This record gives sequence, structure tokens and C-alpha cells, in this order.
Amino acid sequence: VCPTAALTEVNHVPKVWEALNDPEKFVVVQTAPAIRVAIGELFNMPAGSIVTGKLVAALRKLGFDRVFDTDFGADLTVMEEAKELIHRIEHGGRLPMLTSCCPAWVSFIEHQFPDLVDVPSTCKSPHIMFGTIANTFLAKKLNIEPSKVTVVSIMPCIAKKAEAARTELSIDDVNNVDIVITTRELAAMIKEAGIDFDKLQDEDFDHPLGETSGASVIFGTTGGVIEATMRTAYEWLTGEELKKVEFKQLRGLEGIREAAIPINGEEIRIGIAHGLGNARQLLEEIRSGKSKYHAIEIMACPGGCIGGGGQPFHHGNEDVIKKRQEALYKEDKNKKVRQSHKNKEILELYENYLGQPYGKLAHELLHTRYRPKERI
Ligand code: SF4
Repeated sequence: VCPTAALTEVNHVPKVWEALNDPEKFVVVQTAPAIRVAIGELFNMPAGSIVTGKLVAALRKLGFDRVFDTDFGADLTVMEEAKELIHRIEHGGRLPMLTSCCPAWVSFIEHQFPDLVDVPSTCKSPHIMFGTIANTFLAKKLNIEPSKVTVVSIMPCIAKKAEAARTELSIDDVNNVDIVITTRELAAMIKEAGIDFDKLQDEDFDHPLGETSGASVIFGTTGGVIEATMRTAYEWLTGEELKKVEFKQLRGLEGIREAAIPINGEEIRIGIAHGLGNARQLLEEIRSGKSKYHAIEIMACPGGCIGGGGQPFHHGNEDVIKKRQEALYKEDKNKKVRQSHKNKEILELYENYLGQPYGKLAHELLHTRYRPKERI
């Protein structure tokens, strides 16, 4: 079921029920951008149905103490990744910088290109960033012992299960996401609980940490992470407001794409690849010193997370992927705030807790390092 053919799925639903039934636990759930445009298919809705509000309502009915959006973690990722890219460009750092949200791709580079482990961004992925904030800032704000907080991530992805246990992502030997379940596992839980999903009234995510931008929701599709990052990096580099936040030249479903964005009289050259065969081509270029890019987004699954191994099966039907992708762009368009650095709750989190993006505490909590691993 994993499009990268690297993983088989282990059912973690019993662990979630166990946490929800434990009165000592404060169980926080977060749901990834790609879930809201795909889970409806498992309740007989057409591909591309946007069911964000019903999803939140279902998670509350299941008994989670707080319901959050991994999009908030994606906005945090943009803040950190845009600063890191600017830092590398301005201080002669390693270029191109590669996005690092996809654990299957990170594992691929560690094992297959161990000489290039300094090229990915050091940013942890959005759900790990959110789990870290839940265990630190949120636990303190709610006056709850971090050891009592259980963070459950609903992900489109089987590789995220292993990612959550990576020691490189822990803080003081504690991992900040406790359980990962896939879109399909969540749908099974909703059915098991007898919840009539399509009849649910829309509900909103909890606050604080519940406001999200349009930039964060497009993290779910190929090209979305780098588009979101450029919406912020452009304004930070030029000091000018973007007239149009959409970088349509970064969109599409071709396996390898590229675009050049004019900034301050120069060009920031972007590469995008989805599918590990395509990623390999761009990595070989970096290895041979022929890469022309400043930044590259790589996603292991065809289409990005909308086509992830934990999503409703689409059996290679590109039409389903297109509909999910269109739905994410529609959700982005409908958002009042469409750039991560204009999300008020993100700005408050930096002001009240994290300090500067890419600063000392942000580094301690939200960044990591990769190590070469044995070739497999
Ligand atoms: Fe997971 Fe696939 Fe998304 Fe990578 S692209 S994070 S493997 S769902």
C-alpha cells in the first residue's frame, strides 16, 4: 500500500483507543492537510470533497481533548524554512536547500546519498513541530504535565509512523508525537464508533494554535511546500508585499518541474520532484555539481501527500489525485490569510514563546540534523 513500496502498514488504532480511554491522559490530535480532501471518499463522497469541518467534529466525538490542525505546524515550518533558505543564500551556505517534510524521502537520502545529508533543510516535519509545541508551550499554558500529554497524528502516510520514533527528532530522549494513524485507520475508527460522518455539522479547530494560512494547506500537494515557503521568503527578501500570492509556475503533476522567481534583480531557481525515481535524478545532479537550483522540493509519493500510502486507495487513478489537488488549492483560496508569516497565532507564538524564527529556542525545538546511514 505504500507508493514507495518501502513499508507495510501496522494498525495503531488500538493504541489510540487505549489513550482515549485512559483518564490520566490528555489526548491531543492533529490532522494533516491532505486528510481533509480525501477521507470523504471512505464515506461515499466524491474525490476532492473538502470535509475539514466534519473531520474536526468527528475527532471531537471520538473523545480527543483538543483537536488541532497540522497546518499550524506547516506554517511554523514555513517560518523556519524560509529563514533557513535566506540564511543559506546570504551566508554562502549549502545550496540547493532541499525540503525535509517527507520522511520517506529523508530516509532515502540518508541511505542512498549519505554524502548529501547536509543538503536537506534542518527543519523537522510539520507534525513533529506541532507535537513539540503541544508538549512544551501548550502543556505549560494548560498547566498539564508533558508526560500526561499524548499526541496523536492523523497522517496520509505510513512512513510518518517510523518518523515519529526517530531519535534525531526527540528532545531530551522523548519523542513528541506518540501515535500516528493513517487516513484509512481514522475512517475505520469513525465507523467503529458508529459516527454518521456525512451528517456531522462543521466544527472549528481549537485555539490557540488553531489559526492556519492558505499556504499551509497546500503542503498536501507536490509543489505546495516550496510555494508556501516562497510566499514568505519573497516578502522577507524584498521587503515588498506580493501582489499575487499564487506561484502557478510551481504547480502541476509532471514528475520533475522547475521555475525561476525574480527577486531583487536576480533569480531564485526552484526544482520540484515527486516520486523517488525523479528525486534520484535531481540528487545525481547535486552530487555531480551540476544542479542549478537554490531550493528543491521533494515528495516521495506521486502527487505528494494527497497520493500518500495511508490515503484511501486510488489505484493509480490520476483523476482522483487531480481532484484532491484542486480541492487543496480551493481551500487555500478560501482562506483569509494565505501566507504563514501573516498568521496571527503563529506570530503570537514567536512573540510569547519561541523568540525569533531560526533563533536559539526555535533551533532547539524545531530543527534537527541527519546522519549518513548504511546503504540498503
Ligand atoms: Fe508521506 Fe508520501 Fe507525504 Fe512523503 S509524500 S510525507 S511518504 S505521504
